[in-house]
Amino acid sequence: MSYGVICLVEVHKVNGGGPSHEGNVYLIVDEVPVLIDAGRNAEAILGNVEKFVDPRKVEFIILTHCHHDHTAGVPALKEATEAKVLIGEGEVCDLGDDVATGSYLYEEDPAEFGVDGTLEEGDVINLGDWSLQVLMTPGHSPGSISLYEPRAKVLFSGDTLLPHGNIGRTRRSGEAVKVLVKSLERLAGLDVLVLYPGHMEPTDENVAEQLKTSLEFARSIH
Ligand SMILES: [Zn+2]
Repeated sequence: MSYGVICLVEVHKVNGGGPSHEGNVYLIVDEVPVLIDAGRNAEAILGNVEKFVDPRKVEFIILTHCHHDHTAGVPALKEATEAKVLIGEGEVCDLGDDVATGSYLYEEDPAEFGVDGTLEEGDVINLGDWSLQVLMTPGHSPGSISLYEPRAKVLFSGDTLLPHGNIGRTRRSGEAVKVLVKSLERLAGLDVLVLYPGHMEPTDENVAEQLKTSLEFARSIH
């Protein structure tokens, strides 16, 4: 008997909780389990990962961008999982910089870790049932990426796009916002059923409309 297509891929938000100054961390449980971003509270994140998968099975930690609230947890998570760290190639030069990563805002040093691979436009990360397409979506930071899964129509947007008409903080300089508007225009062309943002809760409520509102907001501050 056929039950049709059953999606066996699970996505769990595995944030450490506590202070809100932590970007969202997602665990995708597919044949190749991966983490999207690394938050700040590695110990709590690992505890949450363990509920779903052996942390040592995590193959990649894919960073949407270099900001401290998304990368501070990398050294401890990398050590515990032995996963390979991937980040957009335009973001590598800002790692280790307390201003570019924003670590000074937390009165902390930037996380120190090695990058095992860089991602470019058009790269595809094959996880088994899911394949994540790498999209360069600069603006929030110069090398921000988004990850799109075309079959499930899910988008991991980092801080480029946040739910309910929000966008991630930018320096709001004309140039950065102009670049962000372009990235949002691009995301608006995707068919997205579920949005997994870098902050706030994931959403599947009329994502196209939410995206349009974010785009209009970004255009209004341009
Ligand atoms: Zn950010």
